[in-house]
Amino acid sequence: MAQTLDGKSLATQIETSLRTEIADLTNAGKPPPSLAVIQVGDLYASKVYVRRKHQACQRVGINSQDICLPTTTSEQQLLAKISELNTDTSVDAILMQLPLPQHINTATVLGAIAMSKDVDGLSPQNQGLLLSGKQGSAKVLPYPSEALLKPKLLIPCTPLGIMQLLNHYRCRLRGKVAMVVGRSALVGLPISQLLLQADATLIHTHSHSVEPKLLAKTADVLVVAVGVPHLVRQDWLKPDAVVIDVGINRQQGKLVGDVHPDVAEVASYITPVPGGVGPMTIAALLQNTVLAAQARHRVG
Ligand code: NAD
Repeated sequence: MAQTLDGKSLATQIETSLRTEIADLTNAGKPPPSLAVIQVGDLYASKVYVRRKHQACQRVGINSQDICLPTTTSEQQLLAKISELNTDTSVDAILMQLPLPQHINTATVLGAIAMSKDVDGLSPQNQGLLLSGKQGSAKVLPYPSEALLKPKLLIPCTPLGIMQLLNHYRCRLRGKVAMVVGRSALVGLPISQLLLQADATLIHTHSHSVEPKLLAKTADVLVVAVGVPHLVRQDWLKPDAVVIDVGINRQQGKLVGDVHPDVAEVASYITPVPGGVGPMTIAALLQNTVLAAQARHRVG
């Protein structure tokens, strides 16, 4: 049976070290880091995720504010709110909870968040830095870079959390075949970029890919971020592959991933759902918020 890549436990360790970093900041006379989370509308799943983010902030000593706007909020009103937060010196980091209602252009809104406060790393500027390899994922290690344990730039939270988990369990990437299923700006595209920068050989598939199962059979590392319950079955897998299941799907009142549990019989490592990538995403959000605060106060 595969070994569990325990995101919950690693996230707890990261929270412990963040408490020290935040204490260093406040002992130096600086205010604690602060995060503004904006949610438009009242999607139940978004509310749950936002609540977990605030609880995590509280655990480590980050001041978080909840900005809940009605579904009827116009794009102009949302942009005005972001502009206000961009210039508010008491706010270090801004997180736009996705998805947005259909009448709002997501790319326009994400592009309006100040680069230094863009804690999800989804603004065009931060995406560009990631593409240019400027975020510090050095090429010196066979594992995901140690530099990612303390990134210098704001990298999207889920991919950052995944790389930290792979690093923690010493899952080798250099020269390995890594396959990413799904190409969202939130997960699929940035994780591909980080895997390439860690010297993996990349296969990237999506909804139009032909024979993904055949391609998956060659993958040493498989990252699945699709949103289709149990899409990946045992017969997709190369024996001893490392499997990262990003999917969070609700099925008969239960949370299930994009990967069927029987995959654990063939894989060497696998992330559980829940308790794998989810807690690491929140840990990465906390780290990015602290990083944004340290950058503003020029410490760390
Ligand atoms: P998305 O809907 O933005 O993107 C899904 C991608 O999957 C698209 O690129 C699409 O082309 C591709 N796709 C759809 N059907 C496919 C198929 N049959 N085969 C191959 N590719 C297919 O979703 P997202 O934001 O990337 O999220 C994906 C999943 O991950 C969702 O279940 C989401 O809830 C979950 N998620 C989890 C976390 C976490 O912290 N664990 C974070 C973000 C997203």
